[in-house]
Amino acid sequence: MVSVLPTEEGNVAVVVRVRPQNQQEREGSRHAVVQVIGDSMLVFDPEEPRLSGVFTGFRGHDAPKRKGKDLKFVFDQVFGESATQEEVFQHTTKEILDGVLNGYNCSVFAYGATGAGKTYTMLGSEKSPGIMYLTMVELYKRIEARKEEKSCEVLISYQEVYNEQIHDLLEPKGPLAIREDPEKGVVVQGLSFHQPKSAEQLLEMLASGNRNRTQHPTDANATSSRSHAVFQIFVKQQDRVVGITQDLQVAKMSLIDLAGSERASTTNTKGERLREGANINRSLLALINVINALADAKSRKSHIPYRDSKLTRLLKDSLGGNCRTIMIAAISPSALAYEDTYNTLKYANRAKEI
Ligand code: ADP
Ligand code: MG
Repeated sequence: MVSVLPTEEGNVAVVVRVRPQNQQEREGSRHAVVQVIGDSMLVFDPEEPRLSGVFTGFRGHDAPKRKGKDLKFVFDQVFGESATQEEVFQHTTKEILDGVLNGYNCSVFAYGATGAGKTYTMLGSEKSPGIMYLTMVELYKRIEARKEEKSCEVLISYQEVYNEQIHDLLEPKGPLAIREDPEKGVVVQGLSFHQPKSAEQLLEMLASGNRNRTQHPTDANATSSRSHAVFQIFVKQQDRVVGITQDLQVAKMSLIDLAGSERASTTNTKGERLREGANINRSLLALINVINALADAKSRKSHIPYRDSKLTRLLKDSLGGNCRTIMIAAISPSALAYEDTYNTLKYANRAKEI
């Protein structure tokens, strides 16, 4: 597979990950609506779907031929149902780790509807941990390999943006305020930082942080997540040169499991939920607007609307400029998720033009 490293400054690489169908989807009589072709192409709603699954025979040979949208999309990389966590990591975050070690902030987003595989990709399960864990393991490896030349300190934080409020997921307390420090960049006041002693301890922290995420059942999906989870890795390094005071270099990598991108109107009812929905759209919309504005800024000086939401304020120093960004669009191949998948692909396709 080819490199998806965003080569130019400020570039955004866009990859798509198709999750496997779950049992309910497989047992349904409808075909998958996503067909992966090679490493970087997929067809949405193919014209002549290859029928598969146990119910195929029941459709009969005279079933009316369905007219699909048959849309071809090309991305920096497309991961099919069988892609492993390790493969996704190898071809995304791993490629920008050098950037962090060279002092640049980086960010990796998982975007997509609820149930599309964002949390699986970023956090993963106990048996197959995701990008957050694999990134830390690789980072420790690289730091170990050059410990003779550089002294390095790694700290992590894990927070969520929920209802336009920031909460610490590792040491839950009241909502936290953001401020901008001329030296340190974006600072979340009172956020806890941690130094996991082992890979196992890191996994425990991630799992317990995730349990602290705010999740509310909604009509559309009982496990719908309306919060954006932001895992940040801070790397502080200094050259080991005897007798000379070296500058401390600090960079951070932000790994973000975004809230579901499905339209709030389809899951919302009223009152509290509606406000949440509006706010989730606010942070997600603000993020989309910032990314679009960064694209425009390449040709002309334009205003980047970082201040429009908590999420974009939080990530102000991790988007644009020298920061490398990877967008992982998660989709379900099931016909049951037709609209969500279509919307995610359309968004991802726009983002890749940056
Ligand atoms: P999201 O965070 O986008 O709402 P999840 O990551 O929770 O979605 O995924 C929904 C379900 O699908 C979960 O049960 C998850 O374990 C499963 N799943 C998602 N992606 C994969 C994958 N690549 N391989 C196996 N199971 C997956
Ligand atoms: Mg999730």
